Amino acid sequence: MKSKKLVILGSTGSIGKSTLEVIQAHPGRFDVVALAAHSNVDLLIKQYEIFKPEHLCLVNENKEQQLREQLKDKKVNILIGEKELLQLVKLDDVDIVVNAIVGASGLKASLETVSKGKVLALANKESLVCGGALFPPLVKKYGAKILPIDSEHSAIWQVLTCGKENEIKRLIITASGGPFRNLPFEKFSTIDVNQALHHPTWSMGPKITIDSATMVNKGLEIIEASVLFSIPTEKIKVVIHPQSIVHSMVEFIDSSIIAQLSRPDMKLPITYALFWPARVLSDFGELKFEQYTELTFEPPDIKKFRALKIAYEVAEQSGTAPAIFNAANEVAVQGFLDSAINFLKITDIIEDTLGKIKVVSQPNLDDILDADKQARNWAKKLLKG
Ligand code: NAD
Ligand code: MG
Repeated sequence: MKSKKLVILGSTGSIGKSTLEVIQAHPGRFDVVALAAHSNVDLLIKQYEIFKPEHLCLVNENKEQQLREQLKDKKVNILIGEKELLQLVKLDDVDIVVNAIVGASGLKASLETVSKGKVLALANKESLVCGGALFPPLVKKYGAKILPIDSEHSAIWQVLTCGKENEIKRLIITASGGPFRNLPFEKFSTIDVNQALHHPTWSMGPKITIDSATMVNKGLEIIEASVLFSIPTEKIKVVIHPQSIVHSMVEFIDSSIIAQLSRPDMKLPITYALFWPARVLSDFGELKFEQYTELTFEPPDIKKFRALKIAYEVAEQSGTAPAIFNAANEVAVQGFLDSAINFLKITDIIEDTLGKIKVVSQPNLDDILDADKQARNWAKKLLKG
C-alpha cells in the first residue's frame, strides 16, 4: 500500500507529538515530508532523527543558528520564519497537511493548504474561528478537504455518516466543564495558574487547557462546528459531560440522538483523520465500562462561564467578531499564564475588546488580520490595567 505523505505543522506540541505517535504505531503507512515548530529546537531535532523529513521549519528566527549548527552534517532543507512555513504546505506530492499550530498563527497555513486543494487535518480550531466564511468557497473551488482532529468535531463527523444533511436537527457538543465546574463563582478570583492548568480529563497544551477552564474552548468549538458542518450556531447545543467519554452527538429529525464514545485520547481522532476514509486496527486503549459506571450530563452554567454566552453572541454577529474574540482571548490567556491578570479578567478582557473594536461584516483576509491586530493591541493595553 502506498504510504501517505504528511506535513506536520506544530510537531513539537501536544497534538504534534500525538500525531507522530500515531505514525510510529503504523509503520510504513506514512512518510513525514516536513516538520515545523516554533522554538523547541531540541525536540525538533529528536523528531528529525526518528522521522527523517526532507524539510524542517523553525518559526523563531532567534533559534536559527542553533538549529543549523546542530544539523550541519545532515541532508535536510531548513526553512526559517513564518513566511517560509507556508512553503511547506505548497510542496508537491503532499497528501495531508496536519495543522497543529496553536492560535490564529495557524490561519494562513490552513488557507494556503485548502487553496492548494490539499487535505487539511485540522487541530488548529482558531483557523476556522477567525477565517470562518473564507474557507467554504476555497474548499469548493480547489477541491480541498478539511478533516477535523478536534475530538468533538471528529465525533460529529463520524456520526454524520448515519444520516443525510437535511436530516440533522442539531449538533450536541459535549464539554468536560473543566477543573472549575464545581467551584463556587465567588472563588474564581483566587484561581491560580497551576490549578487552571490541571485539566480533569485531557492532557493538552497550555493555551487550550486555560481555554477549557474558562470554557472559551467550547465557545471556539461551536464556531468551529458551525463553519465545518455549515450549520447555524442556534442549532449547536453544549452539554456538560464531566467524564469526557461521549465526545459529541447529533440529533436527527426523527429525534434519534447518535453519539461517538471512546477514551479521552487525542490519538483516536488523529488516527481517524489520518486514515480516513478507512478505519484501522489500533491499540490506543479499550474503553473499560467497569471504570466508567456513570456517564452524566448537565447544562452549562453560563453565569459562571460567561465566555460561552459571549461566544454564541459573537458567532451570531459573525464577520470579524470571532477573530476579535479569539485574539483578545489569546492575549488574555498569555497574560494569565504570565500571572499579569487573574482568572476572571480573561473573560473581562474578551468582553471589553469586543465592545471596542469595530466589526467588519463580510471580511476578506486583510480585514480579519487587521481585526486580529487591533484586538491584540487593545487587549494588551487592558492587561496593563
Ligand atoms: P501546544 O502549545 O502543545 O503546541 C503548539 C505547537 O504549535 C507547538 O509545536 C509550537 O511550536 C507550534 N507553534 C506555536 N506558535 C507557532 C507559530 N506562530 N508558527 C508555527 N508554529 C507555532 O498546543 P496543542 O495543545 O497541541 O494545540 C494545538 C492546536 O490544537 C490548538 O489550536 C488547540 O486548540 C488544538 N487542539 C488541541 C487539543 C489537545 O489535546 N492538545 C485538542 C483539540 C484541539
Ligand atoms: Mg475539543
